[in-house]
Formats: sequence, structure tokens, C-alpha cells
Amino acid sequence: MDRWIGEYELANSKVPDIKIVVPPIETHYSAIAVRKGDTETLALINSGLKAITEDGTFDRIMEQWQGKQVIYLTKDYLQFFYLQFAVFFLVFVALISIYFVRKYRNLNKKLELIVKERTEELRRTNEMLKSANLKLGRMSMLDGLTSIENRRAFDAAIKQVWESSTKEEKPLALIMIDIDYFKIFNDTYGHLSGDQTLKRIAEVIQKVVNKPGNLAARYGGEEFAVMLLDTVAEEAAVVAEEIRRRIEELGIENMEGKSIITVSLGVASVVPVRGMEPDELIEAADKALYKAKESGRNRVVVWE
Ligand code: GH3
Ligand code: MG
Ligand code: MG
Repeated sequence: MDRWIGEYELANSKVPDIKIVVPPIETHYSAIAVRKGDTETLALINSGLKAITEDGTFDRIMEQWQGKQVIYLTKDYLQFFYLQFAVFFLVFVALISIYFVRKYRNLNKKLELIVKERTEELRRTNEMLKSANLKLGRMSMLDGLTSIENRRAFDAAIKQVWESSTKEEKPLALIMIDIDYFKIFNDTYGHLSGDQTLKRIAEVIQKVVNKPGNLAARYGGEEFAVMLLDTVAEEAAVVAEEIRRRIEELGIENMEGKSIITVSLGVASVVPVRGMEPDELIEAADKALYKAKESGRNRVVVWE
């Protein structure tokens, strides 16, 4: 048989370790033979060969045969081949693993960074919110025009102070202040000028009582309230008198220059006991203020 078929048969019969040890004794190429003198058949075969060579059929046939080449492997080579394959495979798996580990480690780092950034952002936002809240809280307790405490702050404060004064059995004084003839001032100089005057008067009151434990608040439209901790009526009257005098000294004209802006003040003080309400102190100071108005304004009256 020719070499291809021989090789195939050997491989098929599992005859191992075939090696070419010496050059072949004889080598023949396949050929086509015809009867001597049969030129007709020869010409026919030659023209057929020429035709299949030219149209590529010959090459295709050869290609088909050669494509089935048999490769012979020895056991040693196979073992070596498997070992090589195993090593390559392991290296490949290791490389892929390293790639993914690195990738995920980087991703993890990135994520950690993002989380850190977001946390920091959140913390800052929180802080901003807290400070905004604090500001809002403070703002809700301040009067928009005069920037001193408002009625809400006063109500909260007197409740608290009332409790502590009751417990400690200490006197609590209250001064109620109302601007004299303020309606006329507004009518004469306008509401905006009235607002400016309110601001100046609030400033004076704040300055006089600016001590820890004291509180000055805008109680209503043109009324102010001053709370003095641990203060008896006589002491509160002195403070009230100073407020009155200082406001008079501002010399703010009223009634087209025929008079100046003054205030009337009602003073009351009490050592609160259980069962007593802060309203009673407010009412007493209010009554004193009414008396101050009634008896001519621009004065301090102490509720007895
Ligand atoms: P008196 O207290 O001496 O009896 O006379 P008055 O004219 O001051 O009387 P009253 O206290 O009743 O008047 C309150 C006036 O205060 C009415 C209003 O024109 C003025 N007023 C109240 N709130 C404001 C304010 O926020 N701004 C200004 N400009 N005026 C105010
Ligand atoms: Mg009034
Ligand atoms: Mg008034």
C-alpha cells in the first residue's frame, strides 16, 4: 500500500512507536498505465487529466486526501503534552484569577472611596441642616423688626423662670412698657418712621437690662415686657425708671414737635408659690401700666 494508507493502518491498529529508521528501499509514485500503443486511451486520459488540473478538481482531490493526514504521538510525548497543557491551563486560570482579584480590589477601593465621599457629603449636609435648624429655632424666637425676643420667646421663658423661682422661693419681677401716644406718631410721621422708633426703643430697653437672667421682649405692637430674675419690686422700679429716662433722652419728636416720645411702665414682682400662675404677675404689671397711663404717662408705677 502507499505511505498514507500504510500510516493510517498502523495508527488504526494501535501499533506504537513507529519510526523511520532508514531511507525507504524503494520509492514509487502512483501512476496510470495503458496498454502499449493504445494512444487513444492515453490521449483520453491525458485530456481528462488536463481538464481536471485546469478546473482545479485535481487539487481539490489532493487536498482532500492530504487533509486527513495522520499524526503519530508517542506515550512520552502525550504525557509531556498533557503536562504542558495542564501547566498552561493552571497559569491561565491563575492569570485570570489575578486579573479579577485586582479588578475587584480596585473596584472595591473605588466603592470605598465613593462611600467615604458620600458619607462626608452627608455629614456636611447634616451639619448644615443642624445649623440651619438652630438658626431657624433662634429666628422663630426673635422679633423680625427689633431683633429682640418675641412674644413666643417671652411666654416660654416666663414659664420656665416661674418654675425655678417657685422652687428657689425667689422673687420674679416684670416690667410692662407701652409707648405714649404712638398712634399720633404714626399718623404724623408715617408707619415706617414708627417702625424705626420701635427699633430705637427696643435697643435702649435691651441695653438697660442686658444681664444674665434678664429678658427683654417685644410683647405686642408697641408694647415691651422685661423680666428680671431674683428681683424685688423696688429694684425693678429702678431699672424701669432708667429705661423711661433713657427713652425720654432720645428726644424723638412727636406731635409735630409739640412733645417727645416717652413710655409708660408698670412694675410688679412676686415670689411665686404653688398654685399661682404667671398670668397673675402679667396682669399685675398690666394694671400698673394702666395706672401709669391714667396718671399722666411717661412714668413708672409699681403694683402694690
Ligand atoms: P397710649 O398708649 O399713650 O394710650 O396711646 P397710643 O396711641 O400709643 O395707643 P395704643 O397703645 O393703643 O396704640 C397702639 C398704636 O401703636 C397703634 C399703631 O398705630 C401703633 N403700632 C402698633 N404696632 C406697630 C408697629 O409694628 N409699627 C408701627 N409703626 N406702629 C405700630
Ligand atoms: Mg399699646
Ligand atoms: Mg401706646
